[in-house]
Amino acid sequence: MDESNLMDKITALCKRRGLIFQGSEIYGGLANTYDYGPAGTELLRNIRNLWWDYFVHKRSDVVGLDASVISHQEIWRASGHTAGFADAMVDCRNCKLRMRADHLIEEKIKKKVEGKSLQELEEIISSNKDVICPNCGKHDWTSVRKFNLLFPVNLGIIEGDQSLAYLRGETAQGMFINFKNIVDSSRVKLPFGIAQIGKSFRNEITPGNSVFRTLEFEQAELEYFFDSEEQDWKKLFDAWKNTMWDFVTKALNINENNLRWREHSDEERSFYSKRTEDLEYKFPFGFKELWGLAYRTDYDLKQHGKFSNKDLSIVDPTGKKITPHVIEPAVGINRLLLMILSDSYTEEKDRIVLKLSPKIAPYKVAVFPLLANKPELVKKAEEIYKSLKENFVTVFDGRGNIGKRYFAQDEIGTPFCITVDFETLEDNAVTVRDRDTMNQKRIKIENLVAYLQKKLV
Ligand code: ATP
Repeated sequence: MDESNLMDKITALCKRRGLIFQGSEIYGGLANTYDYGPAGTELLRNIRNLWWDYFVHKRSDVVGLDASVISHQEIWRASGHTAGFADAMVDCRNCKLRMRADHLIEEKIKKKVEGKSLQELEEIISSNKDVICPNCGKHDWTSVRKFNLLFPVNLGIIEGDQSLAYLRGETAQGMFINFKNIVDSSRVKLPFGIAQIGKSFRNEITPGNSVFRTLEFEQAELEYFFDSEEQDWKKLFDAWKNTMWDFVTKALNINENNLRWREHSDEERSFYSKRTEDLEYKFPFGFKELWGLAYRTDYDLKQHGKFSNKDLSIVDPTGKKITPHVIEPAVGINRLLLMILSDSYTEEKDRIVLKLSPKIAPYKVAVFPLLANKPELVKKAEEIYKSLKENFVTVFDGRGNIGKRYFAQDEIGTPFCITVDFETLEDNAVTVRDRDTMNQKRIKIENLVAYLQKKLV
């Protein structure tokens, strides 16, 4: 398969089949925002549910949280985001393109520069004539400046009497500020995790790459609290690495060859973190962070304790007072989706197939009448469609010819297509076609649910 323009092909498929659209498209589009269409919404939902099932429902040491998106400004002062959550940006003087300085350098001279100061970045950009503008090709940059990524919101409707809050820049802070609430209201015992899936907002400026980096995105984060005197953080960290790896390779069925771990250097790592590693995926535009894992020590709870003037420590059964330490796996649901699309996109002789794991495919089954203008076939197909819907997310398709319908369902990864033909009216059996092998099998209608259930695990 020619992979040189894979991202363009995926983007075109997403639009053609109702997975992802440009945000505000009819008004000319709004950069770095996207809307998910019917198939994309199902896919997102399946990824989100699978994550939740794996990390919350299937474990006995993790509980859930759904915190407010609009949040008190002090949260972000305590976390360091209002001061430090800023990207270094440069503008091209010639064409006015604005870019993150680290991305520009990384793209042009393949050098990792996270953690470098503004001055150091500026020095690299001005002394390397290869760091040219990706838009106009000139080397004419402004100085490097910082822009804060948090979105401020003004609460209250009377001008002059409004108070400042922020749209959250990460879901993680919700876990820290509710730590005490959760300890006091549920039966959690160290070590335990608090998990949350929800929208986060960052005023990011980046060109292209679909939903990889957007202004608004969904995060799935987990804060795993433990007693640092009782547990070896290195062992716990490695255990989390294995869990993340298993989720991606086994639950999502992603090819291991497209994954790797990358440890942050001392320069790059946040000052409060003792170790950070990124699980990177080989996107069509190169290996990039998919999922971060950080040992954040007791920094966050201590900070919120200090800023809120509340005691956020807990007392263990022996009476010992502990401020737990925390290990945080943090991933974006939209980034998982983009990885899944990239990994499952397959071109075959005369079709394109998304080879999605059946668990996350937007639709599990599609039902067609062989001919859309034969009422007796349509009626029977509709009956089967309605009864299958009770068990599986099922679609009905009566457009075009059978070949076109298979083509359309393959492109959104529907594992099984069922055709009702004239014989069905005689023998009460249908043709079931498998997405991957394209093999067709006659199955009695009464056995359909059991047959599909077995295949769709
Ligand atoms: P990056 O270095 O790519 O900006 P980050 O290290 O700031 O990411 P974290 O704050 O660790 O990211 O966020 C955790 C996860 O959330 C990331 O691994 C990624 O999957 C996702 N994520 C972060 N920012 C965005 C964004 N703007 N759009 C989509 N997903 C994002």
